[in-house]
Amino acid sequence: MPIKTIKEFLKFCTRCGKCVPLCPSYQVFKEEIFSPRGRIFYLLQDTFHKSFDFCLMCGICERNCPNEVSFPEAYLEILKEKKENSISKEFLKKFASDPLKIFLEINNWLHLISVENRKINSKLKERFSKQGDIVIYYSCDLKYFYPQVLRNFGSILEKYNLNAYMPLEVECCGAPFLNLGYISLLKEKALKNLEVLEKTKGFLIMFCATCLWIFKKIYPQIFKGSVYEDRFKRLAERVISGYRFLSDFAEEEIEKLKNQKKDVIFHLPCHLTEDFNLVKNKLDIKDFCCGSPKASLWLEGFQRRFKKNWVKNLENIDILATFCAGCYLNFNLLLKRPPQIKHWFELL
Ligand code: SF4
Ligand code: SF4
Repeated sequence: MPIKTIKEFLKFCTRCGKCVPLCPSYQVFKEEIFSPRGRIFYLLQDTFHKSFDFCLMCGICERNCPNEVSFPEAYLEILKEKKENSISKEFLKKFASDPLKIFLEINNWLHLISVENRKINSKLKERFSKQGDIVIYYSCDLKYFYPQVLRNFGSILEKYNLNAYMPLEVECCGAPFLNLGYISLLKEKALKNLEVLEKTKGFLIMFCATCLWIFKKIYPQIFKGSVYEDRFKRLAERVISGYRFLSDFAEEEIEKLKNQKKDVIFHLPCHLTEDFNLVKNKLDIKDFCCGSPKASLWLEGFQRRFKKNWVKNLENIDILATFCAGCYLNFNLLLKRPPQIKHWFELL
């Protein structure tokens, strides 16, 4: 979309400010320029600001805007047109096959993945190797952060006589490349995932809110107007239907959890605010940003500085459950126990 058209679309912003307090990055920085309204103002003046890179593209602003103005949509259109640095791109390509592993290695955090988790991983690959009723997207978080969630999820499926298939050829959703503005690398990931997942049938289950958001919102936009747009939308529909399906039989499990008399809080990640059907209206959900879901925020150290803003939500809590690789990592690294940090699916 040409920049002129993007600006025409942004001019519908009346500067009412409804989006400002809702924006997770504004909640972190508390500065107008880090709000959707501030970013739109700058963009309309043809001025780029580093705050643009701190937008999570979560869409909370556009869903709450009376005029349906969307900064993330406009910014993604700009990123699509941006010339990529070919040297950096070649460098990044070396890490493209397993970006989370590289990130963990750089930070010397591979020790966070216990030996037990590594063993679980190899057993589960075998267990989910045949076609089944449900397809599991084997995301980086399942590989490195919470493979034990897959084991528990498998037990629940068994109880309901369901089988799951987990194709291992899928790749990282590409969120790290979106963060860095390398849309061509994101596209490569998207097309590979499409190729593998279109060969499967049935509900598609994702264990990370950011992966879901990339499939549902970002892939269709980066392929807008092409033959792929609708195909990505259909994949995302399979994920949403999968969550609806699970929510039907999750009720019984949730009741059990409530009877355990433990104080449990379900944390709602920014990228799941539109799609939390699985537990909607059934659990005590806290909607707060962990402070650094983007790599750029991580590098700035906001997860530490922002901690005081969210830790007050967790007083006297035994278990904190989330649904996102970034939030899970933040909570694990920054919180003293209790609370125990879990994935939502571990409790269902
Ligand atoms: S983007 Fe929408 S909600 Fe935000 S200030 Fe503009 S008109 Fe208001
Ligand atoms: S997409 Fe999310 S982070 Fe970006 S401006 Fe909108 S509310 Fe803020």
